[in-house]
Amino acid sequence: MISLEVPKKFQPLISQAHQVATEVFRSSSRKYDQAEHTYPKELDMLAAVMDGMADSGALGGAGAGAVGSGSPNGGGGASGDGNRNGSNMASLLGLIELCWGDVGLLLTMPRQGLGQAAIAAVANEEQLKRFGGKWAAMAITEPEAGSDSAAIRTTARYDEDTGEYVLNGEKIFVTSGDRAELIVVWASLDRSQGRAAIKSFVVERDNPGLKLDRLEHKLGIRASDTANFVLEDCRVPKENLLGSPEIAPKGGFAGVMQTFDNTRPLVAGMAIGVARACLERTRELLGEAGVEIDYHKPPHAQSAAASEYIAMESDWEAAHLLALQAAWMADNRKPNSLQASMAKAKAGRVGTDIALRCVALCGSVGYGEGELLEKWARDVKILDIFEGTQQIQLLIIARQLLGKTSAELR
Ligand SMILES: Cc1cc2nc3c(=O)[nH]c(=O)nc-3n(C[C@H](O)[C@H](O)[C@H](O)COP(=O)(O)OP(=O)(O)OC[C@H]3O[C@@H](n4cnc5c(N)ncnc54)[C@H](O)[C@@H]3O)c2cc1C
Repeated sequence: MISLEVPKKFQPLISQAHQVATEVFRSSSRKYDQAEHTYPKELDMLAAVMDGMADSGALGGAGAGAVGSGSPNGGGGASGDGNRNGSNMASLLGLIELCWGDVGLLLTMPRQGLGQAAIAAVANEEQLKRFGGKWAAMAITEPEAGSDSAAIRTTARYDEDTGEYVLNGEKIFVTSGDRAELIVVWASLDRSQGRAAIKSFVVERDNPGLKLDRLEHKLGIRASDTANFVLEDCRVPKENLLGSPEIAPKGGFAGVMQTFDNTRPLVAGMAIGVARACLERTRELLGEAGVEIDYHKPPHAQSAAASEYIAMESDWEAAHLLALQAAWMADNRKPNSLQASMAKAKAGRVGTDIALRCVALCGSVGYGEGELLEKWARDVKILDIFEGTQQIQLLIIARQLLGKTSAELR
């Protein structure tokens, strides 16, 4: 049975993450929101400190900033061998605190990144040694393939003479694409064979065939770089293909997709962190304006602002509990695909909703740049989009509840 209390052993991790969020992230929040595409140098020193803390075990395994860390235990899920000592829960709790500080800065922390989750899920021992611990971005999305990742058009042709794969195509919206050391690129070995032929390839960022096309200007998370690339005869050694090169119906694609089931509770945690920041600041501002919130009175017996605030808190709590459940299941090796999507769908929607309602409740103060509320409302929306949009999560949930395949319900 799941316990709804956060175990005491995670308290030091939560406190440390909260301290980082307060002292490093919050103090740089506005600066890097305004200076889009400027690298937040403060994070280099912080990353070194956090690496040291993770090595010493002070961060409880996966590390407070692990958005899919180098360790196979870090971003793994119900099917993995890892997840000892509650590493998914540790990641979730750390991320909630750090994103209470700033989600854009969290997303651009060195050596984090979704690419490492894929590497950890399917790499062999030799690849883990070569790529583990490096900053790795993930490039799936293309101009013609977003939600439907099986529709990607980037190709990988094997060159027998050189023992290399030659990649050609276009990748867009790659988080940390410019700053990462490695990019995990999804490409098809044979487009006529559908999703089974889709493999992931590790491409060094300085590979001359990987050409940066542009950096996106975005609504939110402006501290995080989002890169678009063209791959032009981009050659990678055959040893950089992750998993098996065989095209088998139940091959690597399913394995990599499973990675997402297990990173979705973490994205939910990010939304939960941002939403908590909104709620806390709104409560302070309402208090300064003389609005009292009384939990002993029913909503109709309080001011409209107070009753709206209480309703937002209960939505937040539901999202929080769903994310804790999904992470707890992953740590206890229980299939959590359904719960991971439920957590992401709920937290993505509630996070966006709470942030906007907090802006509204605080009126002109909430909308102005004197407060971070307007920034959080812009930042949080991405958490309802990437790693599967709101609509795609609902589709996954419906398929699971109705026992339908992706071909039957699309
Ligand atoms: C800031 C940012 C960072 C990103 N980072 C990365 C990254 O690091 N790596 C990466 O590979 N990608 C990344 N992405 C891409 C992101 O994952 C995609 O934007 C997302 O998957 C949606 O794809 P799309 O934008 O092509 O929208 P589409 O798939 O075209 O969808 C458009 C709309 O239609 C809806 N829709 C689509 N299909 C269905 C359906 N079957 N039923 C109901 N509704 C549907 C969607 O929910 C959405 O609302 C990033 C995007 C952004 C904005």
